[in-house]
Amino acid sequence: MTLGKRLVGKIIMITGAAQGMGRQASIEFAQQGAIVYASDLQPIISESLGTEIIDAPGKIYSQVLDVTDYRSVKNYVEDLNSIDVLFNCAGFVHQGTIFECEPKDWQDSFRINVDSMFYTISAILPKMLERKKGSIINMASICGSIRGVPNRFAYGASKAAVVGITKSIAADFVGTGIRSNAIAPGTIETPSLHKRMEALGDIEEARKMFTARQPMGRLGQPEDVMPILTYLASDESNFTTGQVFNIDGGITI
Ligand code: NAD
Repeated sequence: MTLGKRLVGKIIMITGAAQGMGRQASIEFAQQGAIVYASDLQPIISESLGTEIIDAPGKIYSQVLDVTDYRSVKNYVEDLNSIDVLFNCAGFVHQGTIFECEPKDWQDSFRINVDSMFYTISAILPKMLERKKGSIINMASICGSIRGVPNRFAYGASKAAVVGITKSIAADFVGTGIRSNAIAPGTIETPSLHKRMEALGDIEEARKMFTARQPMGRLGQPEDVMPILTYLASDESNFTTGQVFNIDGGITI
């Protein structure tokens, strides 16, 4: 565990914080001194965060929030005083080509991965503009705008839209103190990745297959993604906006 002061004084909202990279970011940000408002569709079990943040200089407040519910997002944001950083992390992976994609799969992909970001950003921006500062970090993926990945038709399309949102917000608000960037991870070992491996039948075989595709010979871990997130959340990245950062173990070389 690395405690630090890079985010002291920052108030950070994270969606999709119950597991995977959102959970890890909540812990990491608190360890760097931030006050973190961590939310998720599923309750965030405090024991799963508790031991790791026991000595952290920051704090995590958790709440259930469905990011596809516009009214709930508005109310949630209204209840927060100010927010320095928004990390839009909640997401959903639909697997399949266009032929395995039902209208509901398409709609769910866009509701969870894209509409949610419109809701959170539109709710938070006025508060950020008032204070003339704010860093928005959107979870994209190497899948979509950076690479076409087989069997990720709806997911890839929705994550490409995330890049569009990121750059549009950056362009519209450059010079106001608002920054908007995206991160694009490769294959990161998280609960949803485990589910995707399980769905293929033999989990060990699936792990070998996923690992074989990795130029560095290993899957990414949520910890691998934290340094860029801390950088984007901190004032160290004050001159950076509209960018997409690939963290992918070399898969897009
Ligand atoms: P995960 O997929 O295991 O967890 C995602 C979290 O989002 C869950 O806790 C889930 O409850 C939450 N969520 C889903 N729908 C929600 C809703 N409507 N409202 C609020 N929360 C909701 O964790 P992960 O794999 O770290 O994925 C996090 C993000 O990273 C996602 O956007 C995903 O698309 C993206 N991503 C993941 C990988 C990877 O390989 N794991 C790679 C690139 C991008």
